[in-house]
Amino acid sequence: KVVVVVSAMGGVTDALIDTARKAQAGDETYRDQLDEIYYRHRKAAEELFTAEQLKQVQPFLKEQTRNLENLLYGVLLIKELSARVLDTVMSYGETVSAFITAHYFKHNLQIPVEHLDSKQLVKTDSNFGYAAVQFDQTNANLQQATGGIKKGVFVMGGFIASDRHNVVTTLGRGGSDYTAAIAGAALNAAEIEIWTDVDGVMTADPRKVKKAFSLLQMTYEEAMEMSHFGAKVIHPPTIQPALDKKIPLRIKNTFNPAFPGTLITTQTPPDDHPVKGITSIAQIALVSLQGSGLIGVTGIAGRLFSALARRRVN
Ligand code: ASP
Ligand code: MG
Repeated sequence: KVVVVVSAMGGVTDALIDTARKAQAGDETYRDQLDEIYYRHRKAAEELFTAEQLKQVQPFLKEQTRNLENLLYGVLLIKELSARVLDTVMSYGETVSAFITAHYFKHNLQIPVEHLDSKQLVKTDSNFGYAAVQFDQTNANLQQATGGIKKGVFVMGGFIASDRHNVVTTLGRGGSDYTAAIAGAALNAAEIEIWTDVDGVMTADPRKVKKAFSLLQMTYEEAMEMSHFGAKVIHPPTIQPALDKKIPLRIKNTFNPAFPGTLITTQTPPDDHPVKGITSIAQIALVSLQGSGLIGVTGIAGRLFSALARRRVN
């Protein structure tokens, strides 16, 4: 059994956000941009399917695009774009890419293929844009949805989910890796693979450090630390579900599949590089809070962090 979690096509989520912002600003060119997004998917479908198969895919693509068009027209009329509406707008990318991928597998694999609707199965709170997963329900849903067959491929969209009112939510930018880890942990997978566009986790950012090289192995703690502090290859929350169940996490390069990539596990064999890597984050603000009035006053740190948290500063 394999669960394939797909993200949106490259750049589509950014384009969707941009389209929604244009509509909000009353800029009617959002329609052209929406057309471009639609044609990109249609072109991909045309390359993947025969004319006959395309007839099964096209109505869904059209319906999704029409829904999005209506939604964006609503945004244009009321000139308001809430995080809640933006999540539904963004969900188009994964909804459509998952549908196309599932259909492609259906027509080309000799084993059962099922398309799972992430918006029904992955349940979250209503913190739009960065919703927190409700694991009990989500795990039960995923187990039930994949339990029926012994061997097969399931395809689902990453990043997208819904709250208890079935309103669409998203898991934070880059969140499709996280969905893969959630599904892997829920189903006690033998391994969770993240297919990206670089040779796994590197010792440093190769654009900044010429001698950077790929790490073959690292621990969950090291991966967590590096991703939280700037290594872009892994979406930081992805590691937690794998770590909880001690499921090996493998980072592979789509454009270089023969390369082993990086294997993330509990322990790594000792090697002669005591320092695993160096990361950096740009555009950091350093806040220092000081003053004689703070001395001996309890709760200052609590108030400071609460104030930052209210603004979603991590
Ligand atoms: N499509 C989403 C994004 O661009 C999720 C992902 O790609 O992982 O943020
Ligand atoms: Mg991604």
